[in-house]
Amino acid sequence: MEFFSEISAVQNIIYIISSILFITGIKMLGKEDTAVKGNFLSAFAMFIAVAITVVSVIDPLILLIGIALGAIIGSSIALKVKMTSIPEMVALFNGFGGLATFLIAWSEFNSIPDSLFQHILIVITVFIGGVTFTGSLIAYGKLSEKIKIAKTSIITKIFTTVFYTSLIFLIYSIVQPVMPILDFDFFTVLLVLTLLAGIGFVLPIGGGDMPVVISLLNSLSGIAAAFAGLLLLNNVLIVAGSLVGASGLILTIIMAKAMNRSITNILFVGYASSSTSTSSEEQGEVSPISVGDAYLILESASSVLIVPGYGMAVAQAQHVVRELGELLEANGTEVKYGIHPVAGRMPGHMNVLLAEANVPYDVLAEPDDVNPTMDAVDVAVVIGANDVVNPSATEEPGSPIYGMPIIEVHNAKTVFVLKRSMSSGFAGVQNPLFFKQNTRMLFGDAKESIGGLVSEFKE
Ligand code: NDP
Repeated sequence: MEFFSEISAVQNIIYIISSILFITGIKMLGKEDTAVKGNFLSAFAMFIAVAITVVSVIDPLILLIGIALGAIIGSSIALKVKMTSIPEMVALFNGFGGLATFLIAWSEFNSIPDSLFQHILIVITVFIGGVTFTGSLIAYGKLSEKIKIAKTSIITKIFTTVFYTSLIFLIYSIVQPVMPILDFDFFTVLLVLTLLAGIGFVLPIGGGDMPVVISLLNSLSGIAAAFAGLLLLNNVLIVAGSLVGASGLILTIIMAKAMNRSITNILFVGYASSSTSTSSEEQGEVSPISVGDAYLILESASSVLIVPGYGMAVAQAQHVVRELGELLEANGTEVKYGIHPVAGRMPGHMNVLLAEANVPYDVLAEPDDVNPTMDAVDVAVVIGANDVVNPSATEEPGSPIYGMPIIEVHNAKTVFVLKRSMSSGFAGVQNPLFFKQNTRMLFGDAKESIGGLVSEFKE
């Protein structure tokens, strides 16, 4: 409690101000027209919180060196990264947040905890921080498709076993000071097991479930930071960590609902564990279409639904997509965008891209809004989306994505699918949509294909 008195009143007042600014900033992110200001406000809040921390320590040099190093490394990675690799970068940065709290708790253990409460805090912070770190590294590997280890492989099974062992060891570590059952260096074992546990936590989680895991890891990094704040008795860290933890948890629940799954089912059962089919084989003949013919159909359509997916991000086609939407509207066509919550590679990926291209929010609709009226849609234009429009999810029990709600474009009168080849999406399964009678494949890079359609309209 002596520690409290060391924190100056001014520092605490600044911490309270930055906490209020964080909350206001997050609230402003909820609306399109205030989102940018909200972002700046939160960044400013972080700046003043860091500044007051730096001036309040006896020897700020080491802090400044750390901040400078972090800023140089972080900004050079962020400046170089391709737009399509942003989700991987976010996963990686998230993991480093976990590593920071893991190291803080470790160093607090070395300075010898003076109460049982502190001991429990240290153990829990090490665990959550460590799992977040290595779990996020695996998420990075999966998102960048560098790690392709099957859920059923022996490696996955070994790491999953380590994960469950670590949970038992976590309980032992918590009770260790009061019930020293075994006599060994439990803390070193906990450190190692925790890092391996993160691998075992994320490795078995398959394609369709990754969005939920990513938002959960995000939430865990916040919870770990809040615990580290309790350890260091740092109020702003407690508030900022709790905000990240709570908002990440809300997002996790939203994503799980979007996948029609419970969180426990995702984490402990695995996606469609009884699945028998992971086929990426082709299932018949497809009907290709040229840009010119697609234009003629679109030109006479009275309602068009645009469904973007990861391929739109790869092609960076959002600006031409907006242009096409405007040209269609000018031609008297009703245009809507169907946004699946897990389309792309990070939560809100499509919303961010379309907002960047100034597509108004009121034309964006969720699957539940567009599916009931799909048969009235003249043309559904699927732009680089695959898993989120795959009818196997609703029609084929045993498919690895069975049960996931989709945008049911196959019920539209005509479907255009814009992609470069017949290759599968993130979940690695073939899509029967491509072989349906009402589907036409417009092969090529999405930006070029849409650009072609835009030119036809302009002519
Ligand atoms: P998918 O990954 O299912 O499919 C993307 C499609 O885009 C591919 O089939 C690819 O086909 C096509 N494509 C790639 N580049 C281009 C290009 N330049 N021009 C045109 N097409 C292109 O994407 P979805 O958005 O439908 O689904 C997202 C998937 O990612 C889901 O399985 C989801 O669970 C998962 N996921 C989502 C996360 C999130 O938070 N949103 C996080 C982690 C995973 P081709 O190569 O033939 O062009």
